[in-house]
Amino acid sequence: MERLIVLAACWLTLTPCFAFTLNNNVAASFEQDQVKVNVASHTCNNLGITNDELLSLAEEAGALYWNRVHTSRLEVVRGSVVSVDGVFQTGEICTNFPSSPCDINAAMAVSSDILISCNTASNNYSNSPSVLGVTLPNNVTGQTIRGALILVNDAADNSFKDLGRGEKIAVLAHEIGHAVGLGHSNFDRNLMYYQSVATRETLGPDDVDGTTLWRLWFHWPHSRPRLSQPLRR
Ligand SMILES: [Zn+2]
Repeated sequence: MERLIVLAACWLTLTPCFAFTLNNNVAASFEQDQVKVNVASHTCNNLGITNDELLSLAEEAGALYWNRVHTSRLEVVRGSVVSVDGVFQTGEICTNFPSSPCDINAAMAVSSDILISCNTASNNYSNSPSVLGVTLPNNVTGQTIRGALILVNDAADNSFKDLGRGEKIAVLAHEIGHAVGLGHSNFDRNLMYYQSVATRETLGPDDVDGTTLWRLWFHWPHSRPRLSQPLRR
């Protein structure tokens, strides 16, 4: 696979992570309106939740955050638990850690939509338990994302297992934001702020603008905004 320009990001609880961006030059989004979120079927070692529970959290992440943007046709929907190669559980998403930009591990390229996989390779998380996940649109053609991978830190000392349910949903929503092509916001009122906020319940203006304009820019008119519907803000 060619050396793609891609984006990845992390989501932290305790310490700032200033733009953990493997490469911030990506300019792509999914072309289709409806993007499924699937979950890898292998058992998570240390997250303390089942695959079905992880899938339900992801479904709620779409429903509570991204699907409420009335100016975007993006709809994040529940996929299914899918069987994948063992590399998704133990492999490194880039083949050249700790160097950057990322050389995509072609064995972990996602064929379509979004795949969430718990993964134990600490290099994916800068060897830090406070890095909860990493996301990479790792199947990109031109300005179109074909598939994106969300790895959730399943190392023994991961912090994800200690979060409340609402914060887990917010974390997954943040990672889904990266999976559909968004980067970080510098302002903490936005879900795409680089750091976790325990009381997160809604999207912020940067999140709404990002998912609306990002898709509008690259995939007009297919992903045109819902101009016929009332705006919420
Ligand atoms: Zn992030």
